[in-house]
Amino acid sequence: YLITLEGGEGSGKTSILKRLASALEQQGLSVVCTREPGGIEIAEQIRKVILDRDNVKMDARTEALLYAAARRQHLVEKVIPAIEAGKVVLCDRYIDSSLAYQGHARGLGIKEIYAVNKFAIDEYMPDLTLYFDVEPKIGLARIEKDAGREVNRLDVESLKFHEAVREGYQLLVGQYPDRIQVIDAGRDIETVFQHAFHTVTNFINP
Ligand code: C5P
Ligand code: MG
Repeated sequence: YLITLEGGEGSGKTSILKRLASALEQQGLSVVCTREPGGIEIAEQIRKVILDRDNVKMDARTEALLYAAARRQHLVEKVIPAIEAGKVVLCDRYIDSSLAYQGHARGLGIKEIYAVNKFAIDEYMPDLTLYFDVEPKIGLARIEKDAGREVNRLDVESLKFHEAVREGYQLLVGQYPDRIQVIDAGRDIETVFQHAFHTVTNFINP
């Protein structure tokens, strides 16, 4: 299975992903954890170009194409082989990030960004997506408290931008109601984890 974790800044998806992986492994499943953009050498290099704080001239379409390129390479090199080996792939961000950030928040159009990404992923849509929904104000406040976190070019976007990202995700929930499960990520991390874990186990063993 390909299970993706999505959400805005400070939604907790990265910490939850690690906990989900160990809980699923304890159930005897073989799990691969990965992230986007990145996860493999070429895609981590593309990530650096996109997120470099000095690359202020990055055009929105260039950015969208780079995300799609990183996604393609990561899919072919890491995700598809893992799925074919019967593993559960937990991926921190995937196509919905592009649809919400570039498609909706940057205004390039969800349909347009879907078309670019369809070329990159073929039939490899996620089997299940957990969307960690949190008010941007709360999410951004969590990030500010986390001193060890790498700050990138995009973290300094305005609150308005992050509100548009959330709006984008909410549109996607309407568009893919079966695939995307909403997790209220404004609650404490233990509660959020339990909800995420039950959602994944119900999906795998209905
Ligand atoms: O998941 P993570 O927070 O590490 O993502 C790195 C950065 O890339 C974030 O600041 C996120 O807002 C941004 N991003 C983006 N468009 C995407 C994926 C991530 O702007 N499609
Ligand atoms: Mg971030």
